[in-house]
Amino acid sequence: MDNNNTYNFLLSDLKNLRGVGTKTSNLLKKKKINNIFDLLWKLPRTYTDRSISAKIKDLKIGEIQTITIIPFKYNFPRVRNLPNRVFCKDDTGNIDCIFFNSFEGYVKKILPLNKEITISGKIGFYKNKYQITNPKYISENASLIKTKHNKYSLTEGISESVYNKIINQILRKLPELKEWHNQNIMNKFNQISWNQAILELHKPENIGKYQSDFYKRLAYDEILSSYLVHSDIRKKIKKIKKERKKFDLDHQKKILSKIDFKLTNDQKKTLSEINNDLKSNQKMFRLLQGDVGSGKTIVALMSAYNVVKAGFQVAIMAPTEILAMQHYKLANKIFDDIKINILSSKSEYKTKKKIKKQIPENQIDILFGTHSIFQSKIKFKNLGLIIIDEQHKFGVNQRKKLSDKGGKNCDVLLMSATPIPRTLTMTIYGDMDLSIIKEKPKYRKDVRTYSKLETNIKDVIEFIKKEITKENQIFWVCPLIEESKKIDHSSAVKKFEYLNKIFPNEVALLHGKIDMEEKNRILNKFLNKKFKILVSTTVIEVGIDFPNANIIVIENANKFGLSQLHQLRGRVGRGVKEATCILMFKSSLTENAKKRLKILKNTNDGFKVSEEDMKIRGYGDILGFKQSGIKMYKLADPVLNSDLFELAENEIRFMEKNKTDTSKYKILMKLYDQADILNDIV
Ligand code: ADP
Ligand code: MG
Repeated sequence: MDNNNTYNFLLSDLKNLRGVGTKTSNLLKKKKINNIFDLLWKLPRTYTDRSISAKIKDLKIGEIQTITIIPFKYNFPRVRNLPNRVFCKDDTGNIDCIFFNSFEGYVKKILPLNKEITISGKIGFYKNKYQITNPKYISENASLIKTKHNKYSLTEGISESVYNKIINQILRKLPELKEWHNQNIMNKFNQISWNQAILELHKPENIGKYQSDFYKRLAYDEILSSYLVHSDIRKKIKKIKKERKKFDLDHQKKILSKIDFKLTNDQKKTLSEINNDLKSNQKMFRLLQGDVGSGKTIVALMSAYNVVKAGFQVAIMAPTEILAMQHYKLANKIFDDIKINILSSKSEYKTKKKIKKQIPENQIDILFGTHSIFQSKIKFKNLGLIIIDEQHKFGVNQRKKLSDKGGKNCDVLLMSATPIPRTLTMTIYGDMDLSIIKEKPKYRKDVRTYSKLETNIKDVIEFIKKEITKENQIFWVCPLIEESKKIDHSSAVKKFEYLNKIFPNEVALLHGKIDMEEKNRILNKFLNKKFKILVSTTVIEVGIDFPNANIIVIENANKFGLSQLHQLRGRVGRGVKEATCILMFKSSLTENAKKRLKILKNTNDGFKVSEEDMKIRGYGDILGFKQSGIKMYKLADPVLNSDLFELAENEIRFMEKNKTDTSKYKILMKLYDQADILNDIV
């Protein structure tokens, strides 16, 4: 088969396989197994050894045994509930094969009289006789039975023997693919080919051999393919030639001299990386990543300002109206020589109409709003930059669409406050250039983090009483209780009632069932210090500055991962006041839980927290990336295989630097990424 036919085969419908009909194929599709390739990664968990056969006289009751027997008599009672029976023997004794609910014809076919048949199953003993009930492993060909049979975590409705038949069929037909790796890489995996590696992977005795050459080779294939796809997107975007943005840094200096703090070194560095992109003739596609409170907003606003000075318009979008408003207000405060406006669902009809008229006439330089700016049919006269804040949940495809959206002169800057482990950077953001702010503003103190048993809630209340007298504000987070599809807000409601009795008129409640407008009203009141305690499920907005809130209480804290706790904790401590985070627990902590907490207590560095979180929980779980459609590896594991991730990153950088022809990797990319593209949320 040439490579073309090969991937047609591998991507072909499962119904092309013997023994797979509509029913089985639908069951597999439910598990996202759509074609032959997908089935290759469905690995055995363990196996049943049916390779050694016994004589009837030595059978062990209750165990799975393999015997070779000769059927010599049938008994088909034709009475409901009575099973069909086949009397069988070997040279040491007798055994009955019992069949419930099976047709005479079938029984006769699989157990023909006076022939040697090999059979394997659990041995029973009834009325002084050995028996075996509804045996599934029966064949005249002993070698088909006398082997190790893989056990899979079964898809409902598909039996182990059917599964084995399907997989073995595929493995027998598995094509040889033309090697895509270079010699240097092949040396690292002991020259094992893709085909050989897959065969090894499915051998029962190889279950769990994560550090073997075949496993590593396949894991590396996966990693490299996703990096290659990303690299392709990045190259394509960079090929787009745009008009250089010309601006004088004196304007920037003037603005920066007016604000009441000095940029940190990382802020300076990232701003100049962005400025360089803006000035170049390649389209910018960059992510500004920084922990909560690291000061990304000012960097974004300054780059927007420079773009305006270069004669272009800018759109700045945030996930919520409150956050968009906060950015708009800040811009209003620091810029006095450009025209800015905000488009909000609350804007009056007249205002909206006016904005929609002014934008195409280039009468607005920076437009703020939510992501809905996208959907609305606003035509910018000369859009030069799109900035999207707090958007770690955009998948690759959405980002790609975003970059296409603005037209060829439009640069793109995304911002995310979600630190991710180093090994995952290329997997999640490999299509973009990265600017990272690690350093936090100097005056910023770490959030002090404590843990408390729920039974000691009185201590927490006393502490809060004191803080309230100092005019401080408090977030009180109750996680959602999720029972199947029903989401329960009752814990938040109860806590609200409890706290409201102790602090009358000082508590408000926020949860997912409250509509947007009401939510915004409550958040604005909290911002304006109209009440002291905000009880909420985890819906507190990301990104908003509540400079006066310096305490966060998180109930049932073990419901959250470390990164999530870190993000929640980042809601406080953005002002000058010292901030406190209190983690509450229902019962005393296990040693493991204590270890996790220690990490959180000892560091306020989100990157470190995310590394540790990944080690504990695996990468799929960190911060809901799963829902955002990031590449989910089938074999590769960023903790176990971190060396392979590094290897792939170096390889990609090398290829990009040397402009290596990547056409030989086409089949790899096609095979491995066909499924993931569909996973991107829209
Ligand atoms: P994030 O990176 O989470 O978006 P923000 O941009 O909202 O963070 O900044 C958080 C707070 O820190 C804001 O109140 C902002 O004014 C302040 N800030 C930003 N940069 C500095 C700095 N260099 N020195 C002092 N405070 C800063
Ligand atoms: Mg922010």
